[in-house]
Amino acid sequence: MTIPALEPLTVDVRRTMGMTVVFADDVEVNVDVITLRTHCPCADCRGRRDRNQPVGGDAPSIVNAELHGALGIAFEWNDGHSTGIHSWQLIRQLGEAS
Ligand SMILES: [Zn+2]
Repeated sequence: MTIPALEPLTVDVRRTMGMTVVFADDVEVNVDVITLRTHCPCADCRGRRDRNQPVGGDAPSIVNAELHGALGIAFEWNDGHSTGIHSWQLIRQLGEAS
């Protein structure tokens, strides 16, 4: 038996709060907005984390969110950043870690 890809059933994004995702296996995870912003998976933010530099501003909020199917979700942030795509796998890990 193969493990099905992590597919979201419902995605609820709250601009200044974060997001709630219910996955196909009925697991619900909540990820707060600061965690989402600081874990941006793009190369730029990864590099900042590697150098122990701050990622994102003090009060991140989501300006726009675009679903990319099975891939994940792309956020546009109030600091103008919009290059990262958070995979569903990442969202799930962040939600389960919190
Ligand atoms: Zn980034």
